[in-house]
Amino acid sequence: MQSIENQSFEGKTVIVRVDFNVPLNEKFEVTDATRIHAAKPTIDMLTAAGAKCVLLSHLGRPKGIDPDLSLQHIIPSVGDILGKEVQFSSETIGNQAIEAISSVPYGGVILMENLRFHAEETKGDPAFAQALADLGDAYVNDAFGTAHRAHASTAIIANHFPKAKYFGLLLKGEVQAIKQVMETGQKPVLAIIGGAKVSSKLTILESLLDKIDDLIIGGGMVYTFIHAQGGSVGTSICEPDLKETALALLEKAKAKGVRVHLPTDVRISDAFDNNATTKIVPVDAIPDEWMALDCGPDSLKHFGEVVHQAKTILWNGPLGVFEMETFAKGTIGLGEHIASSTGQGAYSLVGGGDSVAAVKQFGFEEQMSYVSTGGGAMLESLEGKQLPGIAALLS
Ligand code: AMP
Repeated sequence: MQSIENQSFEGKTVIVRVDFNVPLNEKFEVTDATRIHAAKPTIDMLTAAGAKCVLLSHLGRPKGIDPDLSLQHIIPSVGDILGKEVQFSSETIGNQAIEAISSVPYGGVILMENLRFHAEETKGDPAFAQALADLGDAYVNDAFGTAHRAHASTAIIANHFPKAKYFGLLLKGEVQAIKQVMETGQKPVLAIIGGAKVSSKLTILESLLDKIDDLIIGGGMVYTFIHAQGGSVGTSICEPDLKETALALLEKAKAKGVRVHLPTDVRISDAFDNNATTKIVPVDAIPDEWMALDCGPDSLKHFGEVVHQAKTILWNGPLGVFEMETFAKGTIGLGEHIASSTGQGAYSLVGGGDSVAAVKQFGFEEQMSYVSTGGGAMLESLEGKQLPGIAALLS
């Protein structure tokens, strides 16, 4: 893996694909700058090495040019976070763009207009990739959030830099974190897979069975398994048509020696409401008209023991409807166990969507070994897929 570390960038114009697809409010202010902060170490390293950074990103899903989705809106935030003046080019490619870049000093930074104002970007158009490549002497990909897309700026452009294409520090960190869980993790390796539906996590579950020793299944997915085993799940979220698939998965896990841990007790509710009436019942005895929205205290205790035995922990998906305080106890309790186990030397990776949101919301971010910045890209990595943005740097 060729990263930007220990390379010479003095006097070079370096194209850096970042993921600045950040949320904006109605005043076009950045409301969550996590992704800008995440790219800062790479930009700092390149500019300190004497490079001129040409930042490429997309913002939202524009259909053609859309002033509401101009990257110019984020220039003040990017400047504040990088602690330096950041120039902006209203053209992404072409002579005007190249001219704007030439006015930036080495050690400086320029952000180009939204890549997706050009439909060719998402089509992976070779001519557009060529025009992007014309903007600099070297290519760095630091956009893990779009690494699962074979777009012009994330994959195709790399063909133009066979000897000068590099992993940015964020992308390298993400790839190493996945490797640490999927390939080189110290045993026992535990995966905690929660979230709403089995259907959206099926490929992940199947791919993980070859890599792990323990599997905790949590969240709404649980009730498809319990229903398949003949339990009563009331009105809990359930995919009855996946009965055979769920049973086959449990069989496969058994055959591979993977210990599967399902909740034994759950918090049920008479409505999908934070103020509804709740009680704790066995997971397979949920009365009609009641729905399970979190795991119960006995389950959490057992999950805690499993977490503390593990040396490598992957967490994807919450254990309950953590967005409502009443049903957040399982997710918070699990976060506490993982944080404490990490403090005692286990390696923990939190990745893919809502568990990342939960970890941030409940303040565990600093206590995990690694919290991924990529939603879809992390999910596809866990499914065992080679991401086009990463493959393009390795070929
Ligand atoms: P996912 O995006 O598949 O990881 O699903 C995350 C969502 O699953 C969150 O919004 C949770 O509120 C939801 N969830 C977790 N547990 C349950 C449950 N028991 N019933 C319904 N939704 C759940």
